[in-house]
Amino acid sequence: MTTFEVLNPATEEVVRSVELTSAEETDAAIARAQAAFPAWRAVAPGDRARLLRRFADAVDADIENLARLEVANSGHTIGNARWEAGNVRDVLTYYSASPERLSGKQIPVPGGVNLTFHEPLGVVGVIVPWNFPMPIAGWGFAPALAAGNTVVLKPAELTPLTAIRLGELAREAGIPEDVFQVLPGKGSVVGQRFVDHPAVRKVVFTGSTEVGKRIMAGCAAQVKRVTLELGGKNANIVFADADLEKAAATAPYGVFDNAGQDCCARSLILVQASVYEKFMELLEPAVNGVVVGDPRLEMTEMGPLISAGHHAKVSSYVDDSAPVAFRGSAPHGPGYWFPPTVVTPPDLRHPLAADEIFGPVVAVVPFDGEADAVTMANHTEYGLSGSIWTRDVGRAFRVARGVEAGNLSVNSHSSVRYWTPFGGFKQSGLGRELGPDAVDAFTEIKNVFISTED
Ligand code: NAD
Repeated sequence: MTTFEVLNPATEEVVRSVELTSAEETDAAIARAQAAFPAWRAVAPGDRARLLRRFADAVDADIENLARLEVANSGHTIGNARWEAGNVRDVLTYYSASPERLSGKQIPVPGGVNLTFHEPLGVVGVIVPWNFPMPIAGWGFAPALAAGNTVVLKPAELTPLTAIRLGELAREAGIPEDVFQVLPGKGSVVGQRFVDHPAVRKVVFTGSTEVGKRIMAGCAAQVKRVTLELGGKNANIVFADADLEKAAATAPYGVFDNAGQDCCARSLILVQASVYEKFMELLEPAVNGVVVGDPRLEMTEMGPLISAGHHAKVSSYVDDSAPVAFRGSAPHGPGYWFPPTVVTPPDLRHPLAADEIFGPVVAVVPFDGEADAVTMANHTEYGLSGSIWTRDVGRAFRVARGVEAGNLSVNSHSSVRYWTPFGGFKQSGLGRELGPDAVDAFTEIKNVFISTED
């Protein structure tokens, strides 16, 4: 049995050692999930709903513990971590309303009755990245379980602790052991078995675009269903007619939240040229005001990066030759700290403007008119989120319709509400999570015709 030492990214101290699931153990878990499927799908809708609500209650009672676990494992600020645990509770509660509402259609046909059914798929494999271990797990397992599937879930190697705890809470709530299994381990071992094992009927993957493409190619061999939530290089477009004070004051939180390790981070700020200087003057104090430090403290707004390896990757973008405009502060000493950093690359081809850096680095680039802003926002293979700052409602709608991204906000940076759909255009993903339709993605529609003729 190999183990993995989970480190606290704020202190570099070992939090706990976690056993890694082998390929054989993964296969055995998938077989158990397959065996548990007929009984789980047969649970009466109202009873399945009640079990999910009990799971939500167990999460609710454990929020402080889950949050502190996430702070220690992932360096998330305590405020964020509480929100994340609460999001799991809310997503479970939301989808607990689905089992009794999973209705099909009766479609008029001659000579009989035609009905559609939403059938569960079987075993669903959920693969989670390290940046939001709790919410992303819940967005997969809650609707999958609600639809009557059994679930095997692999957390990221770096951040398994809250997923393991969620597995325990599910069991305490009465969800049968083999219906929801958490398998910590490597992507190349456990994740790969989800892709290759024929009993896994769907893979829900959130992570990098590079790995997502390999997962999709692997799933093609069995025409396996797949949902992909991948990377983003998201534009925050600030027009001259916007509330510039508010746009500048909020821009740091649109990108530096979770230390920029957010697929929705608005890491490219496009500013109308006529207000560029003014915006930069307003942005500097806002960036300096971001409180970076011990994530356990209530006042902290940004913690460390997740690992030494990731710190090295983010740092490689900001060498001595990088066009740094200004930087905030970060602690020194142990921990993978990186200060909020504002850069001004010369054009959109520059890696600072083009790449998903996944750290607290934001590029600011001027644009001339509305059409340029849309063209520039779309100048990326990604298409996940974005923000539009303007007081002109017509322009807000035109630009929102023109930007090729799945989640846009006007005069705000919010992307995620569990009751609205979330997902990417282009290479940011495939399919949608959350919102009223997510359960459908965990079912197949079956059409049944019944003859009424003599
Ligand atoms: P990653 O692609 O390295 O890993 C994601 C998960 O896939 C991990 O659990 C990993 O173990 C697993 N994995 C790796 N190789 C695998 C393989 N061959 N087969 C099966 N599974 C494998 O991503 P990461 O570094 O953990 O996360 C950061 C990335 O996730 C960023 O690109 C970010 O934009 C993206 N992300 C996207 C969303 C979204 O909703 N669109 C949300 C969060 C993160």
